Amino acid sequence: DHVANQIAAGEVVERPVAVVKELLENSLDAGATRVQIEARRGGKSYIRVTDNGIGMTEEEALLSLKRHATSKIRLADDLLRIASFGFRGEALPSIASVCDFTLLTRPKDAETGTRIQLKNGEITDCREDAIPVGTSIEVARLFNTVPARRKFLKTDQTEAAHIVQTVRLFALAHPAVGFSLKIDGRETISTPPCPGLPERIAEIWGKKMLKDTLPFERRSGSIFLYGRLGKPPLSRASRQDLVCIVNGRPVDSRTIQYGILEACTGFLPKGRYPVAFFCLEIQPEAIDVNVHPTKREIRFRDEPQVRRIVVETVMDLLLDQGA
Ligand code: ADP
Ligand code: MG
Repeated sequence: DHVANQIAAGEVVERPVAVVKELLENSLDAGATRVQIEARRGGKSYIRVTDNGIGMTEEEALLSLKRHATSKIRLADDLLRIASFGFRGEALPSIASVCDFTLLTRPKDAETGTRIQLKNGEITDCREDAIPVGTSIEVARLFNTVPARRKFLKTDQTEAAHIVQTVRLFALAHPAVGFSLKIDGRETISTPPCPGLPERIAEIWGKKMLKDTLPFERRSGSIFLYGRLGKPPLSRASRQDLVCIVNGRPVDSRTIQYGILEACTGFLPKGRYPVAFFCLEIQPEAIDVNVHPTKREIRFRDEPQVRRIVVETVMDLLLDQGA
């Protein structure tokens, strides 16, 4: 099993930011309203994600470290959700197999919690512990025993930048959840729970970003598209400024990105990108599940339909502005 975990780790966790992403998703799935993230040396030496979610009993915690022990497959409907976002019960055991791993967790109605420690996938300690309700997972010395992986990592600064970007995107996708991120002890992101997307954008990108963007909202069939688009003169050189969130998860969607770009042609200089925050709510069945679940890239069953909604929304918005 250790070998299977290490192989899975190669797929699930390519680099520190992948650990952060998996832990964040678990915290959000656990209904957390506050998530604290800490990373040192770009996440290579230390990552910790702490939430105030539902927590786990000792039994559940031990189970969570076994392969394919997901607690999330209950309904057929869940299966689709799982298939689209990679709920396969692989993340924790995979991560734990390639680091010094500590899991602290306490469910709401319990007096005390559980602390479990693992070293390269082997449990070295499991005991009762007085801890707050929720879950805290520490990942230290990631890939310490997998030199081939370590060698492949970029500088601390680059790895940290990926973590910052990912936490930003998750914060944007979940305005009602408070987030904080410390990198090497320095508070990099800190946002309380917010009423909605505009407030969250203001928290993370600053109030000016609200002035510089226009809100939009569009329903079409079972699709709901909403967000903000940069006013035409405001453009960036990077595709990173095209933020896509689908069903609460940050994703890369060529369809949404190219849709935005296509609609902006003529409004922006060549090679420039608009600032865009695009949130799409769609039935899980409409997401193509054949894309590798740990990748951010997402495809839709009906790509032209999604593209059409994006293009129409952006066109209407820009024409409305008399841009
Ligand atoms: P998956 O998310 O695919 O179910 P994971 O390996 O990421 O698999 O997690 C395994 C299980 O551990 C989850 O199904 C969940 O029951 C539990 N779990 C993991 N993280 C948390 C958390 N932060 N709070 C509560 N339960 C958690
Ligand atoms: Mg998970």
